[in-house]
Amino acid sequence: MIRVDECWAVFIKITIARVDSLRREMKIEILTYGHPTLKQKSESVAGMTPEIRGLIDRMAEAMYSNKGVGLAAPQLGQLLRVVILDVDQVKSETKPRAKGKLHVLINPEILWESQEDEPYVEGCLSIPGVDGKVYRPAQIGVRFRNLRFQDKEMQAEGLLARVIQHEVDHLNGILFVDRLGFTQRALIAGKLSKLRKGIRHPISDERREDKFIF
Ligand SMILES: [Zn+2]
Repeated sequence: MIRVDECWAVFIKITIARVDSLRREMKIEILTYGHPTLKQKSESVAGMTPEIRGLIDRMAEAMYSNKGVGLAAPQLGQLLRVVILDVDQVKSETKPRAKGKLHVLINPEILWESQEDEPYVEGCLSIPGVDGKVYRPAQIGVRFRNLRFQDKEMQAEGLLARVIQHEVDHLNGILFVDRLGFTQRALIAGKLSKLRKGIRHPISDERREDKFIF
């Protein structure tokens, strides 16, 4: 005989599984390579409003659920100068990546950059399955508005400097593939033309965990 509480347990399990799958289906869409919005310049934000706050929340959800470490508003189809990043996400052998510190940069402006350039193999949430070595200044100074719309300045180096520069590029309609040399571009040309036709390259969860994509 089946007990009533067992029935409830099964019912609750099924409901949770259904809600989870619905949530996955409702995942916020990140625009992919070939979408015209990704090539456009974004506009400055005039002040903090509930709409901007909502946009930042959606950006954070999209970034974390896609295991990204950075995201710019145009990647969600919003041509506004808003960038978020979290380069402190840590991964251990047994656990998936844990959230670190979320930086919100509104109207970011790069004030200065170091003389020396540094190479790094970048990947982009809007260009799934493609990566390439990009040279960028190793250190930068950046001015921005924070969540309270206060004027802030900071110095950045390493991955933080890298991600900020990649995201500021997004605000100016520039993608990391635009910064690749001729040879590297030739190597990924086939993948890019497939993306333009809407053919996505699946990225395994392990790869998402191992690599920083922004
Ligand atoms: Zn990107």
